[in-house]
Amino acid sequence: MSVKKMLIDGEWVLSSSQETRDIINPADGSVIATVAEGTSEDAKKAIQAAKKAFYEGGWGETSAYDRASLLRSFADELEANVDEIAKLETLNTGKALIESEYDVYDSANILRYYAGIVTQPSGQTYTLNDPAVQGITVREPIGVCGLIVAWNFPISLAIWKIAPALAAGNTIVFKPSEITPLSAVKMFELMEKAGYPKGVINLVMGPGATVGNELAESHDVDKVAFTGGIVTGRKIMQAASGNVKGITLELGGKSPNIIFADADFDTAVDYGLYGMFYNQGEVCSAGSRILVEDTIYDKYLEALVEGAMKIKIGNGLDEGVKMGPVISKDHMNKVLNYIKIGKEEGATVACGGYRIMDSGYEKGFFIAPTIFTDTKPDMRIVQEEIFGPVVVLQKFHGEEEAVKLANDTTYGLAAGIFTSDNGKALRVIKKVRAGITWVNTYGPVYPEAPWGGYKQSGIGRELGTYGLDDFTEVKQININTNVGPTQWFHE
Ligand code: NDP
Repeated sequence: MSVKKMLIDGEWVLSSSQETRDIINPADGSVIATVAEGTSEDAKKAIQAAKKAFYEGGWGETSAYDRASLLRSFADELEANVDEIAKLETLNTGKALIESEYDVYDSANILRYYAGIVTQPSGQTYTLNDPAVQGITVREPIGVCGLIVAWNFPISLAIWKIAPALAAGNTIVFKPSEITPLSAVKMFELMEKAGYPKGVINLVMGPGATVGNELAESHDVDKVAFTGGIVTGRKIMQAASGNVKGITLELGGKSPNIIFADADFDTAVDYGLYGMFYNQGEVCSAGSRILVEDTIYDKYLEALVEGAMKIKIGNGLDEGVKMGPVISKDHMNKVLNYIKIGKEEGATVACGGYRIMDSGYEKGFFIAPTIFTDTKPDMRIVQEEIFGPVVVLQKFHGEEEAVKLANDTTYGLAAGIFTSDNGKALRVIKKVRAGITWVNTYGPVYPEAPWGGYKQSGIGRELGTYGLDDFTEVKQININTNVGPTQWFHE
């Protein structure tokens, strides 16, 4: 098996340490590829290449039209290779093939969205308290951007950062999760094919503690954009403080999905399942706390359990499979440990609660969809992000208690509300402290709409115009039309 290489300064290279890492298929534990395991030395080289490309290679001064054209070419390449990339993604992450295909098409849409808006008018003209001076603002690229992502949506998380960063005219050093780098290798091959110049795009694989930390710490990196867990997010904030670089943090969540008794029942059950068990529950915005109004609680629980037990679980490449294994053995053990904690805390397992060891599943990391009832707000399974197919149900009475329970978390990423009363929906949603909210739906992501969290779910926004703004600096330009000395010191 040939070793998959990293892209640094236009060259595909092995690690400076010659070290490699085996990449595992979580559906059966087999080795599916071997990749270069980069070092901080490799990250340093990539940063210098990106710096040179920005300041000396002229990338920072390219026209928005040229950058838009490259984004479109890259989008075309992605779609033309959808079968290969989606299969790689499913082999590497375990997710259902249909989800991987969706991620590729969605990514192509995001690239085209940024290709569209980057040529639109931006900036302001303003009237100053001096009629002789005209003020305008322009947006400029920040410089070298370090992009670091998690393993749950390797293609999408990459594109959410790569598209706006390059659209704005920055150069990039990208680090995928060390356990899910395969789709990134393919995407960087396609970016090269699309025509990105040497040094503008760099891919460095390897551990967060070395490669990731170098990107966060280096004084030659001007901005770091990160998706991952809160503990790492805090480390990145600290490392980034050395040169006060800009940061975007997309962190975790423990998001409430609020079901009122007047909601369309079947829709609310369907989105309870979709909002929680899509991608095995490995979704930052998963509706991992379902808050149900007391008058329909029993009926809702029964329908949710029935639906969860019908989910087709298996190898993501198999026909009709809708839920795959969790990402790794370590992560499976972490999720199983949370199930144990939940039982010890006194919650009741209404369904699931175990690793699936049936014939054909025993080598993979499969966990049965798990629903906890009899929960209390201070339980760890209610407060902490489990990031697997485990949901907790909470009972409430009326709007006030729904809002109180919804906000009883250190996170503030997402929230959903199901009701047939639009007034109630808006009243409740405006009181919920979360950055992404849905009414009578749960989970869709739109390229045009800003993504990001309140409280400890992060800093900044991705996607939409906000996502582009976060990869730019704003410069004010003030032009004096009445040239002459001020005579301040010599009247
Ligand atoms: P981690 O925080 O463990 O890792 C995320 C990335 O950061 C990985 O590439 C990792 O490298 C790297 N990293 C680790 N340590 C450092 C460091 N000291 N400096 C710089 N980089 C570092 O998260 P997980 O991969 O476990 O992902 C799960 C988390 O991601 C969940 O909390 C989830 O909620 C969050 N997430 C948030 C999203 C959002 O949009 N808000 C979307 C998706 C996920 P390595 O390769 O070593 O792992």
